[in-house]
Amino acid sequence: MSADRVEIEGVSVATGHYIGGERVASADRFADLSPIDERVIAEVARGGEDEADRAVRAARAAFPGWAALGPAGRAPYLRRLAELVDARVADLAAVECRDMAMLLRSLRARVINRAARNFRAYADLALAHEERDWRSNGTWNRVQRMPAGPAVIITPWNAPFMLSTWKTAPALAAGCPVVLKPAEWSPLSCSLLADLADAAGFPPGVFNVVQGIGTEVGAALVRHPLVRRVALTGSVRAARAIGEAAARNLVPFTAELGGKNPLVVFADADLEAAARTAAGQYDDAGQVCLAGTRLLVQDAVADEFLERFHGAVDEHVLGDPRDDATTISPLIHPVHRDRVQAYVERARASGDAILRGGRRAARGGLFYEPTLIAPRSSDSEIARDEVFGPVLCLQTFGDEAEAVARANDTDYGLSGIVYTGSMGRAERVGRAIRAGTVWVNTFLVRDLTAPFGGIGQSGIGREGGDYALDFYSDLKTLQVLEGSVG
Ligand code: NAD
Repeated sequence: MSADRVEIEGVSVATGHYIGGERVASADRFADLSPIDERVIAEVARGGEDEADRAVRAARAAFPGWAALGPAGRAPYLRRLAELVDARVADLAAVECRDMAMLLRSLRARVINRAARNFRAYADLALAHEERDWRSNGTWNRVQRMPAGPAVIITPWNAPFMLSTWKTAPALAAGCPVVLKPAEWSPLSCSLLADLADAAGFPPGVFNVVQGIGTEVGAALVRHPLVRRVALTGSVRAARAIGEAAARNLVPFTAELGGKNPLVVFADADLEAAARTAAGQYDDAGQVCLAGTRLLVQDAVADEFLERFHGAVDEHVLGDPRDDATTISPLIHPVHRDRVQAYVERARASGDAILRGGRRAARGGLFYEPTLIAPRSSDSEIARDEVFGPVLCLQTFGDEAEAVARANDTDYGLSGIVYTGSMGRAERVGRAIRAGTVWVNTFLVRDLTAPFGGIGQSGIGREGGDYALDFYSDLKTLQVLEGSVG
């Protein structure tokens, strides 16, 4: 095995960048730690200004050829990539599990497959995303969709493989070469994606991966003058910095950020189903942007709901994410574990009531107990900030108006979950919650053609379906005087 590849769970993974169709090393490296045992599993290339420049120039050089292929010429590449992802599900799942500690069985059963679906869906959507022609004022009008140019895509450490394809698939389908910068806490599965893009035969420079630290190579990428689109999934802090850089270059920018999402349970709901969904918010140790972390329960059923909720949480098993029995894995990194712990300690110190958990798990490492906190008020930090760990808040409400007011009492607006047995209430409350996605009596079901994104601190712009294709395109209106050309 060369120094630029490591073996992770029996799978060979490159630790360098992938630029212009070639593996590229950096003199500097950063340590990548597995959350499972806190061991360093790879020393990964730590890119800087030079690698960022090289990658963006490779993407720029590839742009005219990739754009000229049109949706029909590009679709076979995306479909081939989807096939290669499908063929390597087991390897991709094993590497991502070791790198990020997402449950192996969910990675195998659904998460990695969704990445393949993203490539297939966008191959089809770009073909269907037609230009529009019409006549008016004595002219022929056409809306033309021009690929925008090199796109920089910056992704977070949770579900890194699938979330990177959620952005790279529409960018590539729309005709934009991409430079992907994975998060430094889980960089390995995106490195495998570069191998697969290479095997799929993408022209050099169409798909690039640059590894490194956000404030270093990430910042160099987003301020590069040849970049035409910037897309981030990550934190509010990163979005501010990246948004400023994009604005300076007048480059369109989307940001999918965090949430403090309400899970509202009405007295007329199927309480068992609601309690199970609530207990499921601890999955992936709560490191899910869409998680419903504010439980809002109608007074009349609060006791019964809580009994069922505790019963469901008792069934959780903390353990190695590679074991089938495990339902809660360790947190991603010691720094993050300490951040989660500090949130809970501040809540305790400020008088919020810890109803469950509230400490590191007895088995040590990066495990944290599933925690439920009743904040002393809606202004408590724990009721307002995204913790991004296994920490839920519990508040109660009297009537529908209070439920909606509480649900919307947040600076975020990514998602909402409502449990009710009433069609009318589902309609009213579903409409009234200010969030990018609201589920009623279900959770996490997604249609790839639907818009996805957040309100307020949860982000800017929408992705999914045609919305993402629009983002990666420049629209042009072409008008030709009728009868003037033969
Ligand atoms: P983060 O913002 O720390 O990092 C995200 C990415 O941005 C990383 O690749 C990082 O290297 C890069 N980055 C950081 N600062 C940068 C800078 N100044 N310039 C350029 N790049 C920079 O976020 P994270 O901790 O990796 O991810 C967790 C956050 O992501 C949570 O808030 C979570 O809710 C959010 N998230 C949102 C969604 C969604 O779809 N809405 C999905 C997953 C995660």
